[in-house]
Amino acid sequence: MNRASVTPSSKGVAPRAPYSNEEIYGRIQKAVLEHRLAPGTKLIEERLAEMSGVSRTKIREVLNKLGHEGLVELVPNRGAFIASPSVEQARDVFVTRRMIEPEMARLLSRTATPAQVRALRKHVRQEGDARKHNDRPAIIRLSGEFHVLIAEMVGNEILLRLMRELAPLTCLVITLYDKPNAPACPHHEHGDLIDAIEAHDGARAAACMLEHLEHIEATLNFEVVKDASPDIEAIFS
Ligand SMILES: [Zn+2]
Repeated sequence: MNRASVTPSSKGVAPRAPYSNEEIYGRIQKAVLEHRLAPGTKLIEERLAEMSGVSRTKIREVLNKLGHEGLVELVPNRGAFIASPSVEQARDVFVTRRMIEPEMARLLSRTATPAQVRALRKHVRQEGDARKHNDRPAIIRLSGEFHVLIAEMVGNEILLRLMRELAPLTCLVITLYDKPNAPACPHHEHGDLIDAIEAHDGARAAACMLEHLEHIEATLNFEVVKDASPDIEAIFS
C-alpha cells in the first residue's frame, strides 16, 4: 500500500510490489518445508516488514496464523520463533500421522480416478527429478506435499487442514532430528503406494502407508539436537 514509506536498506532487496499476507505466509511455510529456516529462528517483525514491504500489523497477522498452526512459537515479550518441536512433540506428530494416513490411503483407493493416479505419478516424477539434481530442499518439500496431495484428493476438508499442518511440522521434526543424509520419504515407497491406490486395493494401500511412515520415523535420531543457524533472509531468498 504505502511503498513510498518503505526504504529497503539492507543489500539485495530488490524493489517490487509489497507481498500479500498469503504470499508471506506461503514463503515462511516454504522456507520451513525446504529446511531453509532452522527451528528456533527468531522472526523479527521489523525486518520481515522491511524485507516484504508490508506493515508490521500484517506481519503480526501472518505470524499469529502460523502460531495457531504450531509452525511458529509466539513467546510473550520475546517475539515469534520458528517452532522447535521437543522429542515428545516429534513422536506425537508421527503417532498422529500413523493414525490418520493409512485410513486416508484406504479412502483414496476406493475413489481414485485415472486422472488422480496420473497426477500422483506426475508428482513422484518431480520428486525423481529433484533427486537426480540432488536438490535436497526440493526433495524434502515435494515429499511432504505428496501426502498433502493425497488428502486433497480424498476431498475431506478437515483431513486436508490436518495434513497441511502436519506436513510442515514433520519437516521441522526432520530438520531437528534426521540422521545425516536421511532421504526424506524413501522414493520407491510413494510409487508402491500409488500402485495399490490404482488397483483399488484399500488394505494394501493402508499397509504401504503405515510401513512408509514407520520408515520415515526410523530415519530420525532423537538423541542429537542440531544447532540452529538462524537467518530470516532465507524467507525471501
Ligand atoms: Zn512420503
